[in-house]
Amino acid sequence: MSIFEAIAQHEHEQVVFCQDKESGLKAIIAIHSTELGPSLGGVRMWHYQKEEDALRDVLRLARGMTYKASVAGLNLGGGKAVIIGNPCAEKSEVLFRSFGRFVEGLAGRYITAEDVGITVKDIEHVRLETKYVCGISESLGGSGDPSPVTAYGVYVGIKACAHEVWGNDSLQGKRIVVQGLGKVGLHLAEHLSNEEAELFITDINPEKVTAALKTVKATAIKPEEVFTLKADIFSPNALGAVICDESINKLQCAIIAGGANNQLESEQIHGELLKQKGILYAPDYVINAGGLINVANELEGYSRDRALKQADGIYEVLKKIIKTSKEADIPTHEASNKLAEERIRSISRLSRYYTGHSGYAGKFSFLYNK
Ligand code: NAD
Repeated sequence: MSIFEAIAQHEHEQVVFCQDKESGLKAIIAIHSTELGPSLGGVRMWHYQKEEDALRDVLRLARGMTYKASVAGLNLGGGKAVIIGNPCAEKSEVLFRSFGRFVEGLAGRYITAEDVGITVKDIEHVRLETKYVCGISESLGGSGDPSPVTAYGVYVGIKACAHEVWGNDSLQGKRIVVQGLGKVGLHLAEHLSNEEAELFITDINPEKVTAALKTVKATAIKPEEVFTLKADIFSPNALGAVICDESINKLQCAIIAGGANNQLESEQIHGELLKQKGILYAPDYVINAGGLINVANELEGYSRDRALKQADGIYEVLKKIIKTSKEADIPTHEASNKLAEERIRSISRLSRYYTGHSGYAGKFSFLYNK
């Protein structure tokens, strides 16, 4: 597929290739949509085998951000960036500053933040060159680690699903499996433990399990037991693609709701299979939007209280998605895509009304030169 075909396939607005030989910067910034507002999404540093892999990744991730921001009710579009390189060996101040210059050059059409392979320190280097950056540390007036807000959003999302399945949103006594006890999983397990859920926790890193058991009342299970243990709720908070043919065959839970990104190995196939099996799936980008809500808050002067209140909104959004999914007899991930697209359509049409200060930068008339 040619580059333009790849960009046109999902209607990305703009793709910017950035290179700076001296710092070694090779980056791609993809802007999928700015219909709702400036595109916002993290920058990822990864040792891609092929340049095509980096392009495919950044296009897919940027589009995902458009849907996530739309459903979360934010006035933001979708964008993402990737830096091609080994995050363990090829980082430098000048690399991130040169990336920052390219972001600045987009004049706010893309706002960057932290993603896989990027640390707060890297982002602070980016910040030296551009104001279009968020997710900076609290000591610099930023929003800091988004994980507590992500985890809180997942927690309220689980409650919305519980309300749907059992008629009330209490999680007391519910058997819940939490896979992954990293930054999101641990905070989530604490919320669930405080509500006296019957918790089963696991991580491939035994130290995380030991640390979690200090603050969380739970039973530790082996990582391979997550699909077979009889539970009410399975909460994936580790890596993506956990919901596949094999795991769906084994799972006996009523709800899948967790913070991990890209949980369905194949959206179409596995979203439909879960529906057929009667398992309620909370679409990942809806339930884990707390992280985006948190960084978006920084754009207006950060307040953790306001971010948490906004993350509360995930409860109602999920209820709406579940309702649409039932009424239209479609899987929940399809219902959320539909909701996202409808919001973009209905809000973006408002720009046809001239407001007198709409940032129009061109001339209003054309001078005919005869
Ligand atoms: P993290 O790296 O801190 O934690 C992930 C944990 O999962 C690690 O402790 C790891 O050992 C464990 N793990 C990996 N494979 C496992 C397996 N097979 N079984 C059990 N445990 C396993 O990451 P995080 O920030 O907590 O993010 C977790 C997920 O949530 C990721 O998919 C991430 O993309 C997504 N997410 C995070 C945020 C955020 O605010 N941090 C926001 C949105 C989405």
